[in-house]
Amino acid sequence: MKKKLIAGNWKMNGSLAANETLVKGLLAGLGAPVCQVALCVPSVYLAQCQALMAHGAMSLGSQDVSQHEVGAFTGEISAAMLQEFGVHYCIVGHSERRQYHFESDVLVATKAQRVLACGITPIVCVGETLAEREAGRTEEVVKRQLAAVIHANGCCISEVVVAYEPVWAIGTGKTASIEQAQQVHAVLRQQLQAASNQADRIPIIYGGSMNAANAAQLLAQPDIDGGLVGGASLKVSDFLSIIASAC
Ligand code: PEP
Repeated sequence: MKKKLIAGNWKMNGSLAANETLVKGLLAGLGAPVCQVALCVPSVYLAQCQALMAHGAMSLGSQDVSQHEVGAFTGEISAAMLQEFGVHYCIVGHSERRQYHFESDVLVATKAQRVLACGITPIVCVGETLAEREAGRTEEVVKRQLAAVIHANGCCISEVVVAYEPVWAIGTGKTASIEQAQQVHAVLRQQLQAASNQADRIPIIYGGSMNAANAAQLLAQPDIDGGLVGGASLKVSDFLSIIASAC
């Protein structure tokens, strides 16, 4: 059976002192989890978290990457740089990047290519806005977003993680119902199956106000292989309890 993946997305939160408390608290409470656990931290804290997490049961992740390989791109961070800090996962196409930084489907697909080329697993986020859901366009939108990544990455698609994150559920306290989430995951699974004969091993994880109270039910669905957790990943007890639901 595929191991579930629980990835925390700290977003633009943290400080040297708070990170140390959080990571040490998680490591102390984790033991040897039978699921995979990752922390996607702000890039300036990669070195700190790499040191704190060395030899621990959690993998390090980043929240974004440049679409470029190297060069005059002030402020950007390349996949090769992430690799140097032991980064295992990299979120690409988070809705906050699509919304506030106008990232297109093609750009997100290029970012996935960049990290794959450096041996880093992209966590490719797809998801519809509330207006798109209400207009009955959920399937069309998530399939279009995923199709760009499939198109650009060919057979490497089996190396990605897909995160279904309905935009209206991120940071809002509104979670997709179990049925809504499972239904979209099944659609994404079918799309991956049509693209790859390894599709069943591609984790499709859910994100959007996942918390200690709703995680177990979401994670029990046949096509939900884990969670991408924002707010609840910043509290030791909440995140440990989500991990326990997955393990
Ligand atoms: C996220 O940032 O990917 C996310 C799912 O956030 P939250 O859990 O806070 O909704």
